[in-house]
Amino acid sequence: MASRSEQPLFGGIEAGGTKFVLAVGHAPDRILARHTLATTNPDDTLAAAGQWFAAQGPLVGLGIGCFGPVELDPASPRWGFITSTPKPGWADCDIAGRLGRVLACPVGFDTDVNGAALAEYSLGAGQGGGSLAYITVGTGIGGGLVVGGRPVHGAGHPELGHIYPRRVADDTDFTGICPFHGDCLEGLASGPAILARWGKTLSDLPGDHPAHTYVSGYLAQLCHTTFASMAIETIVLGGGVMQTPGLRDAVRDRAFALGAGYLPGHSRQRIVAPGLGADAGICGALLLARQAFEGASD
Ligand code: ZN
Repeated sequence: MASRSEQPLFGGIEAGGTKFVLAVGHAPDRILARHTLATTNPDDTLAAAGQWFAAQGPLVGLGIGCFGPVELDPASPRWGFITSTPKPGWADCDIAGRLGRVLACPVGFDTDVNGAALAEYSLGAGQGGGSLAYITVGTGIGGGLVVGGRPVHGAGHPELGHIYPRRVADDTDFTGICPFHGDCLEGLASGPAILARWGKTLSDLPGDHPAHTYVSGYLAQLCHTTFASMAIETIVLGGGVMQTPGLRDAVRDRAFALGAGYLPGHSRQRIVAPGLGADAGICGALLLARQAFEGASD
């Protein structure tokens, strides 16, 4: 068996607004070591990340699945930047460029949810299929899409959490908390929206509380829209709010009821839990690292 130093070593970062999860491995699904840092300011956080990776050995590629919004256009001089985030200090941060220079290796870069979608598609719940959406419901609502093996970018990147749902029956008094849209999906059904509205997490509210009906109704609309608009085969529903017992089943039942038997692909469409559990994001970052390495070797 070859020693660690003889095999290419990939590095991955799941860069979130509260923490950075770092890992190294010889393959995206074989993590050798991992480390977690608090997300403070860019100088301190990126320096600490660079030091940890340097101590693991030389990397052949680094992948970053990043909170956003981010610039993904390879033709843009700002590719690899976090762009307009409200998180203090991080707007206009050249995260990919800075880490690539420090670690002297090619960098793969995408949104955190596109990275997680790529991992679930390649290694988790979506293996063998042609398309997958990874939707996380937590401090925000985000969605990454992989179609034909590639993350969907287009103009910028998808922001599935910011569609406007139709209000579920008798839910008319809450104006929503999204600073941009008010009662978009994230403004109505994210973890902070649930807390702002009812003062508790969904898991802590009794099973017969109307919050469960409201939240599952809004998330079902997101899933139905994802099925209907893009003919996605597999929707992976993850994130902290999705830990609520029974919620995924309720969303699935209501999403298929919304389809009303009309969608031609419904027999092939599924709503499932993450196959990789909490590792989807970091495995996705390592996949981005391998892609960057292979792209640089062509
Ligand atoms: Zn919004």
